[in-house]
Parts: sequence; structure tokens; C-alpha cells
Amino acid sequence: MKLQFDESVEAFRAEFLGWLDENRPPVEEMQTDPLRSSAYIPEWSRTFTQRMFDDGWLVPGWPPERGGRNAGPIETLVYMEELSRARLPRTANPQGLGIIAPSLLDYGTEEQIEQYAMPLLRAEIAACLGMSEPDAGSDLANLKTRAVLDGDNYVLNGQKVWTSGAGYADFCFLFCRTNPDAPKHKGISIILMPMDTPGVTVRPLKEIVAPEFPDLAEVFLDDVVLPASNIVGDVNNGWAMAGGSLAHERSMVWLMGVMNIESAMVELLEVAPTRLANLPIEERAVAADALVGSHIDAVAARCLGYRGFARYVKSGSAPEQALMKAYTSEARRDLVRLAAELFGPDALQAATGRYGATGSLDAYFESFGTTISAGSSEIQRNIIAERVLGLPRG
Ligand SMILES: Cc1cc2nc3c(=O)[nH]c(=O)nc-3n(C[C@H](O)[C@H](O)[C@H](O)COP(=O)(O)OP(=O)(O)OC[C@H]3O[C@@H](n4cnc5c(N)ncnc54)[C@H](O)[C@@H]3O)c2cc1C
Repeated sequence: MKLQFDESVEAFRAEFLGWLDENRPPVEEMQTDPLRSSAYIPEWSRTFTQRMFDDGWLVPGWPPERGGRNAGPIETLVYMEELSRARLPRTANPQGLGIIAPSLLDYGTEEQIEQYAMPLLRAEIAACLGMSEPDAGSDLANLKTRAVLDGDNYVLNGQKVWTSGAGYADFCFLFCRTNPDAPKHKGISIILMPMDTPGVTVRPLKEIVAPEFPDLAEVFLDDVVLPASNIVGDVNNGWAMAGGSLAHERSMVWLMGVMNIESAMVELLEVAPTRLANLPIEERAVAADALVGSHIDAVAARCLGYRGFARYVKSGSAPEQALMKAYTSEARRDLVRLAAELFGPDALQAATGRYGATGSLDAYFESFGTTISAGSSEIQRNIIAERVLGLPRG
């Protein structure tokens, strides 16, 4: 089977590749100052994101007045594939670009768009996503952080956890409870919280991966005062907006999953022949077999992804999204474990940080995170059971 895109899509690809040729960040800078976590944005990454935005390549599917070029979904797919093939990150602030900026464009006021969304897209500022709390992760509607109206301001108290990039972000897209008496899905709002507001304390969480660049953090809120005009969209409508916000992420999450496996596979194949040759003969066949299994996973993920994508283009949603999230994150975890096994003790030396080389122990530890963030594998399986297979709720 050979999949082909039509001529106009290939012309779009060629135009983007031409732009990339002229604008790719200097390899030396990328190597000496690699992208490690959303807690830290190297200068080359910021410049690259800005250049992409200025030239209409950061969000090609958006209209030109928002920095895009009205690219269709298939062109956007090709764009993402080429970026991944070139191993270039669009941004060091994925929540900001993938969830927060598009949500602000959907639901924010013109002032909020000008003050927060546009600088975010230009990588002039960074944002974090304040959803999860100690008792509200998979069950987000259980969140307890309170926002009480006092004149023209809200006063916030509570705690967030697992907030990626909180130590670095300029503002938080924060989910809070504005009506404690309403059913739990109905009393939630979203508010924009500058991270330097008095009463905000960020406590980095100790991580096993790249501990010198802590990404995840706890955020404590003690009598934090924010203007009521910082509320995004309608008060108490946060739950409905969360669905819309995350849909921005889900629509592309499968693609990122496929690319993550494929790029790990490419990296591994560069070293696999030597590594396999060094293994005792009885272990070599087993390792080669596992490698082939991972390659099949990658190809299957791409085919499944294309099918889901075709459905998504036609109907705006596809059940494959939940399937792809669970499948690709677990397949990648298995692949990087295999890589670490092939590297043996050298996996300790191969550590280069969060986005570390396949084969490093860091990459292996980090691979578990993607099976949890943006909805754990168990939650994806619940969704598949109920919405794809039509089984009764457990
Ligand atoms: C790398 C990483 C980055 C993250 N970044 C952010 C961020 O920027 N902002 C943010 O707000 N959050 C972030 N999170 C938090 C993430 O959204 C939550 O960890 C996730 O939703 C799971 O919630 P929890 O950790 O509270 O686990 P829980 O919901 O307590 O779940 C614990 C275990 O029980 C299982 N479980 C829970 N409910 C069910 C059920 N109904 N059926 C079957 N099994 C179930 C889960 O799968 C899990 O294995 C991040 C997490 C990670 C790992």
C-alpha cells in the first residue's frame, strides 16, 4: 500500500521544507543548549517559535490575522510530520501553544487575546495549565480551589499539583470553583492568574528525570486577589470550556504519539546494529525480535492514526483518539525500555535530559509520564469501553 497526497498538498510540503531550510535553528546551539523541559526555554527555541509565528508557520491552520495561513487539516498533518521528521520542536511551552492560546482565542475577550494569547504565540511569555489538584486528576470536576467574588475581584485559595512549567510560566490558565453550591460540573470557572500575583507560591516537585530542570510543580494559592475581568468566557462555564480546550490538544495528540514512536525508532535504528552485534548470540535474536515488534507497533499506529484522522476531518471527532493516546504512549514506553536494555549500563551515560536520546535511562523514566498526562491509559480504556464498544459504565 502506498499513500499519496495530492499535488496541492505536496506543494504545501515543499514550501514548508523550503522555509525550514532557511530558518532551522543552528545545530550547534541546539546541541549545547538542548530543550530539556517546559521549565526552561533555550534562546534558539524561542527565536524559532517567533520566526514560525511571524512567517505564518506556527499555527498554519489558523486564519492569517491570527498568525496562520488557513491550511486545511491534511496540510496541517503534513506540516506536523515534516517538523517531527526534522526533529524540531514547535515550542518549548506545549500547553501554552496547544491548549491555552487556542482556548483564549475561542473564549477570551479581545483584551485577553491581546495581553495573553498573542504574546504566548510569539513565545514572548509562557503559560501553565492549572487543572489538577491533589484530589482532582482523572476526576477533574472534583476540584476544590475556591474563587470568591469580592467587589470587582475574586479571592482565590487552594492548591494545584503536577503543573508543568509553573516555575517558569508568566501566567496560569487556572480552573477554580466559583459556585460551591452547584452540581460539581456546573460551578467551575477559568481565570487568568499572573504567576507573580502576591499569595502565589510555586514549589517544584523533585523529579527523577533532569532534576536540575524541574518541570512539574505544586502551586499554592493563599488569598490571591485577581480582577473579575480575568475570568475567561462565562462564569461557571469552565467545565464546558475544558472540553473545548482539551479538544484542541486531543485532535493532534495521536499524531504526536505516532511521531514520538517513529522518532524514537529512527534514533534506535542508528545504533541498533552495533548494539545487537555486541550481545551474546542467545540474547541477540530475542532483542531483534522485540525491535521488529516495536517497528510493527509504529507502522500500525500510523495506519490507525490515518484512519482516525480521516474520520476526524469528516466529523470533527473520532473514537480512535482515545485508542491512539493509550496505544502510542504505551508502545513508546515499551520501545524506550527496549532501547535502554540494549544500551545496558551505557543507558546511564546516555542521559541528556527530558527529551533525552532514546536508549537513555532518562528517556525510559520520562516515557511513563505520557501514559498518565492528558488522561491516563486507564481513563482512555474506560472511554474506549463506553464510547467505542458501547459497553455499560463500570
Ligand atoms: C508529565 C505530566 C505532566 C502533567 N502536566 C499537567 C499540567 O500541566 N497541568 C495539570 O493540571 N495537570 C498535569 N498533569 C496531571 C495529570 O493530568 C494527572 O496526573 C492525570 O489526570 C491523572 O490524575 P492523578 O495523577 O490525580 O491520578 P488519579 O486520578 O488519582 O488516578 C490514580 C490511578 O487511578 C486510575 N484511575 C483513576 N480513575 C479511574 C477510573 N475511573 N477508572 C479506572 N482507573 C482510574 C488512574 O488511571 C491512575 O492509574 C500532568 C501529569 C504528568 C504525569
